[in-house]
Amino acid sequence: MSKVQIAFKVLMALKAPRLLDAYWGAERLTVLAYHRIADPTAPGFKYDPPVVSATPEKFALQMAYIREHFNVVDLEAVNAFLHHGRSLPPRPLLITFDDGYLDNYTHAYPVLKRHGFPAVIFLLTSRMDNPLPAWWDECAHYFHHTQRQAATLPLIGERDLSSPALRRAAREALVRQLKRIPEAEKLAALRQTGEALQVDPPGPDPDLFMTWDHVRELVSAGIACQPHTVNHPILARVDEETQRREIVGSCERIREETGQTISAFAYPNGGVGDYTATTMRLLQQADIRTAFTLLAGPVRPQVARQHPLEIPRVYLGGRDTVERFVFKVMGLPALMERPRFIGQAVV
Ligand SMILES: [Zn+2]
Repeated sequence: MSKVQIAFKVLMALKAPRLLDAYWGAERLTVLAYHRIADPTAPGFKYDPPVVSATPEKFALQMAYIREHFNVVDLEAVNAFLHHGRSLPPRPLLITFDDGYLDNYTHAYPVLKRHGFPAVIFLLTSRMDNPLPAWWDECAHYFHHTQRQAATLPLIGERDLSSPALRRAAREALVRQLKRIPEAEKLAALRQTGEALQVDPPGPDPDLFMTWDHVRELVSAGIACQPHTVNHPILARVDEETQRREIVGSCERIREETGQTISAFAYPNGGVGDYTATTMRLLQQADIRTAFTLLAGPVRPQVARQHPLEIPRVYLGGRDTVERFVFKVMGLPALMERPRFIGQAVV
């Protein structure tokens, strides 16, 4: 057991989650941010493991914990709270998923249904039309299939690839660099990666993303499906016209396919510097009044109402142990991270 795991166990024994609960208060809004629900160690898993937030078993345990300690609310209730002064039950919690992976339907939805939990899935809408792996999964595909023992890669140079651990380290270093550069350069570097690793680009994979039929079924069962752009560029790395196309295009596709009202958005990557004041203005022009980042939540009610286009979330990862999950949802990371908002407060 690592030192961190031991520390969490000691803090649990000291009832630290209760102290966090008292610190944040029962009125705080907690929003969970999931991506994939899958087993990245399963044979044949060839995509990006860090995008997996939990295995189906872990997800079921996490939802059981949420049922005990929170009141799960839907997007409509959150919007009414943020924009119309309505109140929420104590310890309100919204469950969200980014990207629209098929496993949200196959693995998460049955668990949500069992508990009667609503949720929101933010869709990368081009993938419902054509299920090509997203850029991070494309990158993982090249590393998964390469026979090369070493290669000179864009952005990170000469790399030893002779073991799984070395391949993973190279892939993770490359993904970090790819997130920093303009979108067009990123896509070029991705193609060069495939060439350097001598692997063909991946084709569409029907097991990767939901179809519009899945989306419609979820919507009719109380799982809102809202926009997350068309192609998932980090919006701060593209020009204003591209940002507008990405936002409006994803809203329009969802409206056409589901007839839903579009009211919420999740920023691709969602960190500091991944969206700008221009992004927020474009969202408002598209009638989106609520948007979610990946900065650490929960958030106090008055802060949420002042910054409805920058609602922080609890980012969950596949390596979260039970203890770590508890501390995350009870707001330990948010306590340690200074709240940062780029937009003007709405008063
Ligand atoms: Zn995403």
